[in-house]
Amino acid sequence: ASFGFRTVALGEKQGMVDHVFHQVASRYDLMNDLMSGGLHRLWKDAMVSWLAPPRKSRRTWRLLDVAGGTGDIATRVVESGERLEATVCDINNSMLTVGRDRAAMRGHAHDIRFAQGNAESLPFPDNHFDAYTIAFGIRNVPRIQVALDEAFRVLKRGGRFMCLEFTQVDVPVLDRIYDLYSFNVIPRMGQAVTGDGDSYQYLVESIRKFPNQARFAHMIEKAGFSRVDYRNLTGGIAAIHSGWKI
Ligand code: SAM
Repeated sequence: ASFGFRTVALGEKQGMVDHVFHQVASRYDLMNDLMSGGLHRLWKDAMVSWLAPPRKSRRTWRLLDVAGGTGDIATRVVESGERLEATVCDINNSMLTVGRDRAAMRGHAHDIRFAQGNAESLPFPDNHFDAYTIAFGIRNVPRIQVALDEAFRVLKRGGRFMCLEFTQVDVPVLDRIYDLYSFNVIPRMGQAVTGDGDSYQYLVESIRKFPNQARFAHMIEKAGFSRVDYRNLTGGIAAIHSGWKI
């Protein structure tokens, strides 16, 4: 189905996003590799290395990975040290099912939990987690500022917020190539692999609407975070934002 993606009201957006990820869940990991040429793996590694979870924590250190999908960030984090636990929270059960199976296969039945929930109203108590991550998820959330407020609420004092997201490319020539690639190649690849080109067309368009790095940093500050900073990856195709609840 085509949804006329360009003129979507806030209330309808979540329904469309859910449709997209139900459609693609079983092929999601494969598509990530194909579309990014494997780069998403390096970007996720960069996020986890900047987050730097403790190698040997004296108490259990808790990560909440929101819009965690099939659990890429959670897996990297729990495998980076001892006494690390992750909760993957995603609105979409199809994505969580793929993630749960994968985690069990990799021996993470006990240190990674999967919970269905909305980034705009997280089903977790205040001041609970040591870190909150969201990778390629926040641009799908209809009210970004509400999601940032929720991130602040569920983090402990001293807790860290980190977001990995596609951004606006500002390198000459690369931006043109990137445009061509994303508007022509990605929807076709999506159609070929998942049979649903529209869903990938939507994903590409949602990247264009996302605030630039400086504006997004300002939104993170508005939610209450301190020492907000960001790093560009691969010429700014993606960026990592970081902030602290102090
Ligand atoms: N973090 C994973 C990764 O990097 O591979 C998955 C990213 S995937 C592009 C986006 C995820 O956001 C999907 O699994 C989707 O179901 C989830 N999502 C969309 N809207 C959401 C919301 N309001 N709350 C929580 N998750 C949401």
